[in-house]
Amino acid sequence: MSISTTDGILHISLMNGQARAILIESTRMVQQAKTIHGLSKIATAALGRTLTATAMMGSMLKGRDESVTASIKGGGPIGTVLAVANEKCEVKGYVGNPAIDLPRTGKKLPVGAAVGKEGRLTVIKDMHMKEPYVGQVNLVSGEIAEDFAMYFTASEQTPSLVSLGVLVSDERVESAGGLIVQVMPGASEAAIQSIELSAGMFMDISGTMKEYHLDGAVNQLLMHLEPQVLERRETCYRCDCSRQRVERALITLGRDELNDMIETQHGAQVDCHFCNKRYTFTEGELRALLEAAT
Ligand SMILES: [Zn+2]
Repeated sequence: MSISTTDGILHISLMNGQARAILIESTRMVQQAKTIHGLSKIATAALGRTLTATAMMGSMLKGRDESVTASIKGGGPIGTVLAVANEKCEVKGYVGNPAIDLPRTGKKLPVGAAVGKEGRLTVIKDMHMKEPYVGQVNLVSGEIAEDFAMYFTASEQTPSLVSLGVLVSDERVESAGGLIVQVMPGASEAAIQSIELSAGMFMDISGTMKEYHLDGAVNQLLMHLEPQVLERRETCYRCDCSRQRVERALITLGRDELNDMIETQHGAQVDCHFCNKRYTFTEGELRALLEAAT
C-alpha cells in the first residue's frame, strides 16, 4: 500500500479507446476546503463531491487560463454549492451554509436532503470565446454524482457514469475521490455492456481510495476494461484571488456603488468567498479606484 502526499488525476483509455475514464484522488483538497470554511460533515461531503467532480472537468480543459464553474442550487438548507477549477486542475469552492447539520437517517450522510432537488446544476465553461459555454440540467437527487452524470449525458450528450465519494470523520477527511467513465462515439455494444457490468464496482470510491490510493485504484476499479493510463496530473485546492483582482471587481461595480462606499462607509472590506482572505480599502484608496472607474 502506497501513501501518496499529493492529490492526482489520471486520464485513462479503456478497451482500446472505446471509452475513457478520469480518476481522481482528492483527499487533501477536500480536507483543505473543510479547514478553510470550517465545514460540518455534511457540508464537507457536499462541497467535497462538487470540488472532486469540478477538478476532473478542469482536467478536460485544453487552453491556458480556461476555467469551469459548477454551481448547484437545489433549494435545500445548505444553500448554493459552488466550485471552480482551471486547466491546471487547481480548484476552489464554497457552500452557502458551512455549518449545516441534519439528522442521519441511514448509514450515509444526508447530502441529498441538505442540497435539495428542486433546482439545477449549472456548468459554465470560460474558454475565452465571445460567450462562455453554459449548460444546465434539473437536479436528479441532489446527491451530486447522479446530477453530474445527468449533466454529461443530457447537456454534453456523452453517456457517463459518475461516482464521487468523501469519507469524513468528525475531525478530518479520511479519503475522497471520484471517477467518470464515458463511452466514446462508435463504441461496440459489447464495450457498453462491459462498462454497465462494472458499474457496481465504482460505487464505493472513497473506500477504494482509502485502501488503494490513486494508482492502485486503477486496477481495482477498471481491471476488466483494459485500462491504459494516458496522463497523470497533480490537483489541489488553491485560491487565486489577489488585491488587483478585488480592485478590478470594485471598479466594475461602477461609480454610484463606489461613491456610496466612500460617503457612507468611508472604506470597504471585501472577503474572498473561496479562501476567506480579507481585503481592506481606505477611503483614499476607494477614491483612487473611483477615478479609475471614471
Ligand atoms: Zn481567495
